[in-house]
Amino acid sequence: MRKLFTFLWLSLTLLSCGSVKEASNAEKVSVVATTGMIADIARNIGQDSVIVNALMGPGVDPHLYKATQGDLGRLRQADVIFYNGLHLEGKMGEVFEKLERIKTVVPISRGIETSNLIDNPVFQGSHDPHIWFDVSLWLKTIDEVVATLIKSDPESKPYYESNASAYRNELQILHNWVLTEVEKIPKEKRLMVTAHDAFSYFGRAYDIEVRGLQGISTLSEFGLKDRVDLVNFIVERKVKAVFVETSVSEKNIKAIVEGCKQKGHEVVIGGNLFSDAMSAEDTAAGNYIGMVKANVSTIVEALK
Ligand code: ZN
Repeated sequence: MRKLFTFLWLSLTLLSCGSVKEASNAEKVSVVATTGMIADIARNIGQDSVIVNALMGPGVDPHLYKATQGDLGRLRQADVIFYNGLHLEGKMGEVFEKLERIKTVVPISRGIETSNLIDNPVFQGSHDPHIWFDVSLWLKTIDEVVATLIKSDPESKPYYESNASAYRNELQILHNWVLTEVEKIPKEKRLMVTAHDAFSYFGRAYDIEVRGLQGISTLSEFGLKDRVDLVNFIVERKVKAVFVETSVSEKNIKAIVEGCKQKGHEVVIGGNLFSDAMSAEDTAAGNYIGMVKANVSTIVEALK
């Protein structure tokens, strides 16, 4: 009987560790993340034990983003800094290098095996940073976030682990949902053109051919020849819709639509996709799961 009581007591203690956690603000781990998607992972895993700030809000392009004076202050005060890595934050490399010497700075892509990454055709030896578009790949970054939070706050280990396992489940369900949704688009129509090459992982994971106007980074110039090539491609392949992105200028996509019209092919703007930035925090696409759902719904609606 006594053994049974001890067992029950232990189970209750363990359960409460995993579900209830209260900490005053001073005890919480202060986290700064670059993009909203990364901040969202940290919030889901850290929940009540962390305070998370994202540097880049809705509509902000991480390829071009430079840290402001305010950002530098926030970065200096943070306990933990998470960034994407793979040169997504192309203009912040030096800032991270300096901070690395004095605090925990973690590129969350670090845990993904190179064999799972897509090569960047422009810079040999480097990889496409847009890993969040393949939900099953993004899921792998959770490990790095959990391990880092546990290092900073070992007492909350069971809490972080239990939150992480719940979030992994949610993302697995999301990944399966995307697979089912994309099935609604007939094979021959699975072709999408976007403002920049952000959707290669999406295309690989969910079996859609993708083409971007600009390269993997929005830093690359979009020339007249690229425009002519892309117009020809859209006309030849009878692409139904092209997509604008909230973090990239619409100008180039509009020029493409016009170019196709002159060649007698009507291509429509299929909608706005959240590529490198999520929507405002209090909106449906203001968290990672909502962002993926919004994008997939827009894509399926335009192409099916
Ligand atoms: Zn991008």
